[in-house]
Amino acid sequence: PPAISIRDIKKTYAGAKGQPGKEALKGVSFDVPEGEIFGLLGPNGAGKSTLINILAGLVNKTSGSAEIWGFDIDEQRRNASRSIGIVPQEIVFDPFFTPFEVLENQGGFYGITKALRRSEELLEAVRLSDKRDAYARTLSGGMKRRLMVAKAMVHSPPILVLDEPTAGVDVELRKQLWDLVTQLNNDGVTIVLTTHYLEEAEELCDQIAIINHGELIAKKPTRELIEMA
Ligand code: ADP
Ligand code: ADP
Repeated sequence: PPAISIRDIKKTYAGAKGQPGKEALKGVSFDVPEGEIFGLLGPNGAGKSTLINILAGLVNKTSGSAEIWGFDIDEQRRNASRSIGIVPQEIVFDPFFTPFEVLENQGGFYGITKALRRSEELLEAVRLSDKRDAYARTLSGGMKRRLMVAKAMVHSPPILVLDEPTAGVDVELRKQLWDLVTQLNNDGVTIVLTTHYLEEAEELCDQIAIINHGELIAKKPTRELIEMA
Protein backbone atom coordinates (compact mmCIF):
# COMPACT_ATOMS: atom_id res chain seq x y z
CA PRO A 1 0.00 0.00 0.00
CA PRO A 2 1.10 3.62 -0.48
CA ALA A 3 2.72 5.47 2.43
CA ILE A 4 0.04 8.14 2.18
CA SER A 5 -3.24 8.01 0.32
CA ILE A 6 -5.38 11.13 -0.09
CA ARG A 7 -8.92 10.90 -1.46
CA ASP A 8 -11.00 13.88 -2.59
CA ILE A 9 -10.02 16.12 0.32
CA LYS A 10 -11.86 19.40 0.54
CA LYS A 11 -11.39 22.19 3.05
CA THR A 12 -13.38 25.37 3.37
CA TYR A 13 -12.28 27.69 6.17
CA ALA A 14 -15.08 29.51 7.91
CA GLY A 15 -15.28 33.14 6.82
CA ALA A 16 -15.35 36.04 9.22
CA LYS A 17 -18.88 37.16 10.19
CA GLY A 18 -20.93 37.80 7.07
CA GLN A 19 -18.01 36.89 4.79
CA PRO A 20 -17.94 33.84 2.49
CA GLY A 21 -15.66 30.97 3.49
CA LYS A 22 -12.31 30.29 1.86
CA GLU A 23 -12.18 27.12 -0.26
CA ALA A 24 -8.55 26.17 0.38
CA LEU A 25 -8.77 22.60 -1.02
CA LYS A 26 -11.27 21.70 -3.75
CA GLY A 27 -11.07 17.90 -3.85
CA VAL A 28 -7.47 16.70 -3.92
CA SER A 29 -6.52 13.04 -4.46
CA PHE A 30 -3.12 11.36 -4.82
CA ASP A 31 -0.89 8.64 -3.39
CA VAL A 32 2.63 8.93 -2.04
CA PRO A 33 4.52 5.67 -2.70
CA GLU A 34 6.67 4.22 0.07
CA GLY A 35 10.36 5.08 -0.14
CA GLU A 36 10.06 8.20 -2.27
CA ILE A 37 10.92 11.83 -1.79
CA PHE A 38 7.64 13.37 -2.85
CA GLY A 39 7.31 17.09 -3.54
CA LEU A 40 4.17 19.14 -3.11
CA LEU A 41 4.87 22.20 -5.23
CA GLY A 42 2.75 25.32 -5.55
CA PRO A 43 2.69 29.09 -5.03
CA ASN A 44 1.85 30.74 -1.71
CA GLY A 45 -1.80 30.26 -0.86
CA ALA A 46 -2.16 27.11 -3.02
CA GLY A 47 -3.29 24.96 -0.09
CA LYS A 48 -0.10 23.05 0.70
CA SER A 49 0.02 23.85 4.43
CA THR A 50 -3.69 23.14 4.75
CA LEU A 51 -3.14 19.65 3.35
CA ILE A 52 -0.14 19.03 5.64
CA ASN A 53 -2.09 20.31 8.64
CA ILE A 54 -4.97 17.95 7.84
CA LEU A 55 -2.55 15.00 7.74
CA ALA A 56 -1.02 16.22 11.01
CA GLY A 57 -4.45 16.35 12.66
CA LEU A 58 -4.19 20.11 13.22
CA VAL A 59 -6.92 21.16 10.78
CA ASN A 60 -10.26 19.41 10.27
CA LYS A 61 -11.05 18.65 6.66
CA THR A 62 -14.49 19.49 5.33
CA SER A 63 -14.80 16.17 3.43
CA GLY A 64 -12.79 13.37 1.86
CA SER A 65 -10.49 10.84 3.49
CA ALA A 66 -6.84 10.00 3.93
CA GLU A 67 -4.73 7.10 5.13
CA ILE A 68 -1.24 7.34 6.59
CA TRP A 69 0.68 4.04 6.51
CA GLY A 70 -2.68 2.33 6.00
CA PHE A 71 -4.31 4.04 9.00
CA ASP A 72 -7.38 6.21 8.43
CA ILE A 73 -6.70 9.70 9.80
CA ASP A 74 -10.16 9.85 11.43
CA GLU A 75 -10.84 6.27 12.49
CA GLN A 76 -7.26 5.39 13.44
CA ARG A 77 -5.89 8.79 14.35
CA ARG A 78 -3.45 7.56 17.00
CA ASN A 79 -1.78 5.02 14.72
CA ALA A 80 -1.84 7.48 11.84
CA SER A 81 -0.11 10.11 14.01
CA ARG A 82 2.50 7.65 15.18
CA SER A 83 3.37 6.83 11.58
CA ILE A 84 4.25 10.37 10.60
CA GLY A 85 6.70 13.03 11.75
CA ILE A 86 5.97 16.64 10.91
CA VAL A 87 8.53 19.41 10.60
CA PRO A 88 6.54 22.66 10.69
CA GLN A 89 7.78 25.90 9.16
CA GLU A 90 8.22 27.58 12.52
CA ILE A 91 10.88 26.68 15.03
CA VAL A 92 9.05 25.42 18.10
CA PHE A 93 11.00 24.49 21.21
CA ASP A 94 11.83 26.06 24.52
CA PRO A 95 14.88 28.33 24.03
CA PHE A 96 16.18 27.37 27.48
CA PHE A 97 16.11 23.65 26.74
CA THR A 98 19.20 21.96 25.37
CA PRO A 99 18.95 19.87 22.18
CA PHE A 100 19.23 16.73 24.31
CA GLU A 101 16.39 17.92 26.56
CA VAL A 102 14.22 18.88 23.58
CA LEU A 103 14.50 15.30 22.25
CA GLU A 104 14.10 13.63 25.67
CA ASN A 105 11.03 15.74 26.33
CA GLN A 106 9.50 14.82 22.99
CA GLY A 107 10.26 11.13 23.73
CA GLY A 108 8.39 11.53 26.99
CA PHE A 109 5.47 13.07 25.13
CA TYR A 110 5.24 9.92 23.01
CA GLY A 111 5.51 7.73 26.11
CA ILE A 112 8.83 6.25 25.04
CA THR A 113 10.68 4.92 28.09
CA LYS A 114 14.13 6.39 28.82
CA ALA A 115 15.91 3.18 27.87
CA LEU A 116 14.26 3.11 24.45
CA ARG A 117 14.81 6.75 23.56
CA ARG A 118 17.41 7.50 20.93
CA SER A 119 18.21 11.15 21.56
CA GLU A 120 22.00 10.70 21.22
CA GLU A 121 21.62 8.81 17.97
CA LEU A 122 19.31 11.49 16.55
CA LEU A 123 21.68 14.28 17.57
CA GLU A 124 24.42 12.38 15.76
CA ALA A 125 22.22 12.02 12.65
CA VAL A 126 21.59 15.78 12.44
CA ARG A 127 25.20 16.57 13.44
CA LEU A 128 24.36 18.27 16.72
CA SER A 129 26.20 15.95 19.12
CA ASP A 130 28.65 18.71 20.04
CA LYS A 131 25.72 21.00 20.92
CA ARG A 132 24.02 18.38 23.10
CA ASP A 133 24.04 20.54 26.24
CA ALA A 134 23.91 24.07 24.80
CA TYR A 135 20.83 26.24 25.24
CA ALA A 136 18.71 25.89 22.10
CA ARG A 137 18.50 29.68 21.83
CA THR A 138 22.27 29.83 21.21
CA LEU A 139 22.09 27.56 18.15
CA SER A 140 22.43 28.97 14.64
CA GLY A 141 19.38 29.01 12.34
CA GLY A 142 20.63 25.90 10.55
CA MET A 143 21.19 24.03 13.80
CA LYS A 144 17.68 24.94 14.99
CA ARG A 145 16.18 23.61 11.78
CA ARG A 146 18.17 20.39 12.08
CA LEU A 147 16.98 20.04 15.68
CA MET A 148 13.38 20.40 14.43
CA VAL A 149 14.00 17.50 12.05
CA ALA A 150 15.43 15.35 14.87
CA LYS A 151 12.43 16.26 17.05
CA ALA A 152 10.04 15.05 14.35
CA MET A 153 11.90 11.70 14.16
CA VAL A 154 11.84 10.90 17.90
CA HIS A 155 9.09 8.27 17.57
CA SER A 156 10.83 6.69 14.54
CA PRO A 157 8.03 7.37 12.05
CA PRO A 158 8.37 5.73 8.61
CA ILE A 159 7.18 9.00 7.00
CA LEU A 160 8.58 12.50 7.48
CA VAL A 161 6.72 15.58 6.23
CA LEU A 162 8.54 18.91 5.94
CA ASP A 163 6.56 22.10 5.37
CA GLU A 164 8.67 24.55 3.32
CA PRO A 165 11.92 23.29 4.86
CA THR A 166 14.11 25.92 3.19
CA ALA A 167 11.81 28.96 3.01
CA GLY A 168 13.90 32.04 3.70
CA VAL A 169 17.20 30.25 4.28
CA ASP A 170 20.52 30.96 2.57
CA VAL A 171 22.15 28.75 -0.05
CA GLU A 172 24.53 27.00 2.33
CA LEU A 173 21.82 26.12 4.82
CA ARG A 174 19.54 24.95 2.01
CA LYS A 175 22.27 22.56 0.88
CA GLN A 176 22.65 21.25 4.46
CA LEU A 177 18.94 20.57 4.74
CA TRP A 178 18.85 18.89 1.32
CA ASP A 179 21.69 16.60 2.41
CA LEU A 180 19.83 15.73 5.61
CA VAL A 181 16.61 14.93 3.73
CA THR A 182 18.52 12.74 1.25
CA GLN A 183 20.30 10.95 4.08
CA LEU A 184 17.04 10.18 5.91
CA ASN A 185 15.50 8.92 2.67
CA ASN A 186 18.53 6.68 2.08
CA ASP A 187 17.91 5.29 5.57
CA GLY A 188 14.43 4.24 4.40
CA VAL A 189 12.23 7.16 5.46
CA THR A 190 9.50 8.21 3.00
CA ILE A 191 9.68 11.99 2.62
CA VAL A 192 6.99 14.51 1.70
CA LEU A 193 8.02 18.13 1.41
CA THR A 194 6.19 21.26 0.37
CA THR A 195 8.00 23.97 -1.50
CA HIS A 196 7.40 26.86 -3.82
CA TYR A 197 10.87 26.51 -5.37
CA LEU A 198 10.85 24.40 -8.53
CA GLU A 199 14.62 23.91 -8.27
CA GLU A 200 14.26 22.44 -4.80
CA ALA A 201 11.66 19.93 -6.02
CA GLU A 202 13.84 19.19 -9.06
CA GLU A 203 16.93 18.61 -6.97
CA LEU A 204 15.36 16.35 -4.36
CA CYS A 205 12.13 14.75 -5.45
CA ASP A 206 11.36 11.49 -7.24
CA GLN A 207 7.89 12.72 -7.99
CA ILE A 208 6.17 16.11 -7.90
CA ALA A 209 2.54 17.03 -7.36
CA ILE A 210 1.64 20.58 -8.37
CA ILE A 211 -1.16 22.22 -6.45
CA ASN A 212 -2.70 25.59 -7.29
CA HIS A 213 -5.84 27.32 -5.98
CA GLY A 214 -6.69 24.20 -3.97
CA GLU A 215 -6.52 21.84 -6.95
CA LEU A 216 -4.04 19.19 -8.03
CA ILE A 217 -3.00 20.24 -11.52
CA ALA A 218 -0.26 17.68 -12.24
CA LYS A 219 1.49 14.73 -10.65
CA LYS A 220 4.45 13.22 -12.43
CA PRO A 221 7.93 11.80 -11.99
CA THR A 222 10.29 14.79 -11.75
CA ARG A 223 12.07 13.96 -14.99
CA GLU A 224 8.83 13.98 -17.03
CA LEU A 225 7.67 17.21 -15.44
CA ILE A 226 10.92 18.97 -16.30
CA GLU A 227 10.72 17.79 -19.92
CA MET A 228 7.24 19.35 -20.13
CA ALA A 229 8.34 22.74 -18.78
P1 ADP B 1 -11.49 29.02 11.60
O1 ADP B 1 -11.56 27.54 11.87
O2 ADP B 1 -12.76 29.73 11.93
O3 ADP B 1 -10.95 29.35 10.25
P2 ADP B 1 -9.01 30.21 12.63
O4 ADP B 1 -8.65 30.60 14.02
O5 ADP B 1 -8.09 29.33 11.89
O6 ADP B 1 -10.48 29.56 12.71
O7 ADP B 1 -9.20 31.55 11.79
C1 ADP B 1 -10.08 32.53 12.18
C2 ADP B 1 -10.23 33.52 11.03
O8 ADP B 1 -8.98 34.21 10.82
C3 ADP B 1 -10.53 32.83 9.72
O9 ADP B 1 -11.87 32.58 9.52
C4 ADP B 1 -9.92 33.79 8.73
O10 ADP B 1 -10.83 34.84 8.45
C5 ADP B 1 -8.72 34.36 9.44
N1 ADP B 1 -7.45 33.65 9.10
C6 ADP B 1 -6.67 32.92 9.94
N2 ADP B 1 -5.60 32.43 9.32
C7 ADP B 1 -5.67 32.85 8.05
C8 ADP B 1 -4.85 32.68 6.90
N3 ADP B 1 -3.70 31.96 6.92
N4 ADP B 1 -5.23 33.25 5.75
C9 ADP B 1 -6.36 33.98 5.70
N5 ADP B 1 -7.17 34.18 6.74
C10 ADP B 1 -6.84 33.65 7.91
P1 ADP C 1 0.11 27.37 1.10
O1 ADP C 1 0.62 26.54 2.22
O2 ADP C 1 0.15 26.66 -0.21
O3 ADP C 1 0.74 28.71 1.05
P2 ADP C 1 -2.32 27.52 2.69
O4 ADP C 1 -2.80 26.14 2.89
O5 ADP C 1 -1.60 28.18 3.82
O6 ADP C 1 -1.45 27.62 1.35
O7 ADP C 1 -3.58 28.47 2.34
C1 ADP C 1 -4.52 28.14 1.35
C2 ADP C 1 -5.61 29.21 1.36
O8 ADP C 1 -6.39 29.12 2.54
C3 ADP C 1 -5.07 30.62 1.32
O9 ADP C 1 -5.97 31.40 0.56
C4 ADP C 1 -5.09 31.05 2.78
O10 ADP C 1 -5.21 32.43 2.93
C5 ADP C 1 -6.32 30.32 3.29
N1 ADP C 1 -6.22 29.98 4.72
C6 ADP C 1 -5.24 29.26 5.31
N2 ADP C 1 -5.49 29.12 6.63
C7 ADP C 1 -6.66 29.76 6.84
C8 ADP C 1 -7.48 29.97 7.99
N3 ADP C 1 -7.14 29.49 9.19
N4 ADP C 1 -8.63 30.66 7.83
C9 ADP C 1 -8.99 31.15 6.64
N5 ADP C 1 -8.28 30.99 5.52
C10 ADP C 1 -7.13 30.30 5.62
